[in-house]
Amino acid sequence: MKMKSLEEIDLNLIWHPCSQMKDYETLPPIVVDHGQGVWLCDIYGKKYLDVVSSWWCNLLGHCNPEINAAIKNQLDEVEHVIFANFTHKPIIELAEQLIKIVPNRIKKFHFNDNGSAAIECALKMCFQYFLQIGKPKKKYFMCLTDGYHGETIGALSVGALDLYTELYRPLMIKTFPIESPDCYRCPFQKNRENCQCECITCAEKIFEEHADETAAIILEPLLQGSAGMKIYPPLYLKKIRELCDKYDVLMIADEIATGFGRTGKMFACDHAEISPDVMCISKGLTGGYMPMSATCVSQKIYDAFYDDYSSGKAFMHSHTYAGNPLGAAAALAVQKILREKNIIQTAQENSIWLTEELNSTLGNHKNVGEIRHLNLIHAIELVEDKKNKKPFDSKKRFGYQIYKNALKKGLILRPLGDVLYFNPPLIINRDELKFAIDVTTSSINEILD
Ligand SMILES: *Cc1c(COP(=O)(O)O)cnc(C)c1O
Repeated sequence: MKMKSLEEIDLNLIWHPCSQMKDYETLPPIVVDHGQGVWLCDIYGKKYLDVVSSWWCNLLGHCNPEINAAIKNQLDEVEHVIFANFTHKPIIELAEQLIKIVPNRIKKFHFNDNGSAAIECALKMCFQYFLQIGKPKKKYFMCLTDGYHGETIGALSVGALDLYTELYRPLMIKTFPIESPDCYRCPFQKNRENCQCECITCAEKIFEEHADETAAIILEPLLQGSAGMKIYPPLYLKKIRELCDKYDVLMIADEIATGFGRTGKMFACDHAEISPDVMCISKGLTGGYMPMSATCVSQKIYDAFYDDYSSGKAFMHSHTYAGNPLGAAAALAVQKILREKNIIQTAQENSIWLTEELNSTLGNHKNVGEIRHLNLIHAIELVEDKKNKKPFDSKKRFGYQIYKNALKKGLILRPLGDVLYFNPPLIINRDELKFAIDVTTSSINEILD
């Protein structure tokens, strides 16, 4: 009898995330054997450049020796411990490191185990905050269209990407969506370099109408990742901060994808020199090693929950793996590397080079509508017609075909629709970036010609 391959056993038993499983009939899962730096190697010895940081979380390379060592050391101390009434050295040290780098309103860290949970926490905290300060009418949320904040029902409710949300609409909480900045197809005919964020008028209108029933606005600062790496200017954040202060609305910054140097500064909010009231972090926090997140809040919010037990004001929210010591050890190693190795600076220099290279290679391509970038994050939006920015028919799945083509050549692109993007580990070097550019270019040309 023929032995079953690992791929066959996998497909027999496993339901993969964010996938139409039928697609796996023609593209079976790639069985990863090991990783090293920006490379993943499958069981047949084939190498792949992980230019998407394994879903945007790997910050400093796979099997980074320092992070590996930190986790191994912690493993021999304690692997996990209940986080109510108990604590441990790595998480205390981590909080001490984080407080040095977060925006200035942030004073307390509520640890959880994944990004969506951090968002749920943020929403519940803001809702409960207004209840407990005697403003129970302020109970809904504003969000940006095209936003993405995770997959649980609360997080989905404040997300506004139909691909993920539309089906579940009947289950969701009420929100006031604000038309998000769209700098490639700006309705005001401006561009990122010369605009004054005229589109803030959309937000102003919603604030005027609904601020008295709104607890918080949630947004992804500078980068709407899942929307297709849509990038908008820091000025927009400044203006949102002003609206929040004017109308007594809390500002939740979802820095899950943008935190820890991805945008060229420690946090995306730093570009606008503003501080949110609540900041959610995850992905890069542990370098993409361990599931960990934090909902980081201002003193004002924390204080509204602080009282005698009998007041019933405590935040009764927990996840079993909250504050996991192995995650904390990984996160501490990440912070140490970021402090000592000039990682963010080097990535920034490489990103300038990358912008030039990509523009000279693909800038004039007939189907490249825009190449937009934020530090190493570079997105290539493919369109049918460059002049009127007309997208391709999504049923043709050009992005997916280019993805499959690039995989054969050893590059993991995994585009968002017809937006191809690089969001590599910050330690990627120019040779590796050049490889990514070359494979992307040939993969596009072979599919679109
Ligand atoms: C990934 C992501 C989330 C959700 O985090 P999970 O750990 O996948 O639940 C939320 N917001 C943003 C901006 C993200 O990129």
